[in-house]
Amino acid sequence: MAVPGRRVPDNAPAALAETELFSVDAYCREFGATVLEVDADEGRVALRRTAFYPGGGGQPHDLGRLVWGDGSAPITRVKRDQGRIWHWLDGDHLPDPGAEVQGELDWARRHLTMRTHTALHILCGVIWADHRVAVTGGNMDPGTGRLDFPLPSMSAELGRQLEVRINEEIAAAREIAVEFVGREVADADPALIRTAANLIPREIDPLRVIDIVGLDKQADGGTHVLSTAEVGRVEVVGTESKGKGNKRVRLRVVDAG
Ligand SMILES: [Zn+2]
Repeated sequence: MAVPGRRVPDNAPAALAETELFSVDAYCREFGATVLEVDADEGRVALRRTAFYPGGGGQPHDLGRLVWGDGSAPITRVKRDQGRIWHWLDGDHLPDPGAEVQGELDWARRHLTMRTHTALHILCGVIWADHRVAVTGGNMDPGTGRLDFPLPSMSAELGRQLEVRINEEIAAAREIAVEFVGREVADADPALIRTAANLIPREIDPLRVIDIVGLDKQADGGTHVLSTAEVGRVEVVGTESKGKGNKRVRLRVVDAG
């Protein structure tokens, strides 16, 4: 089905597309998989493929549920450990290695996280467009997030201006694409250079790039919505000076209307 952003992106490495489903389709919320490995001591399982985001880049890991032939359990934690994505299950009952399982994301939480992550990229794009400085750090929870910028000053008035600008970009309903870009191309792209993609280790090739078309482009492993309109509405809920040349913006994502 030709929904923009939902097709498997061009140039997606096949091994990634087949195993880390979140990297090519952020809207995959249920999936079938085979249990690859069981770590009973830790109460965790690795699956042949997964749609559960393992955390990273400031985006928290997903929560949800694993269901199998004679059992089911909440997934309380997901983390990448030595190249493998592990799912921690609540309770003593674990599926056997080789078992067929069904993964179900806590979709309300994940979708709110996607809206939040995209809102933070919009903030990056707006700050770059208006102030020509790049983000230096940040974090997010479902529905709230913060980013730091090397701005000379910060004020409640600037916070209000940023809120207006972010919501203008939401109203513009910009398309958001997941792309896999070869290093030679990525390292020559001014938009990616300004977001420091060229500092990512060379062996990572291609780079996964989130392109809010016409506003912001950055190398990113996280999950995003398809259009800025899907973010809803953003409120800037705090502005702080964390020292000379480090200003923090806090935002919250709320439903439009
Ligand atoms: Zn990001």
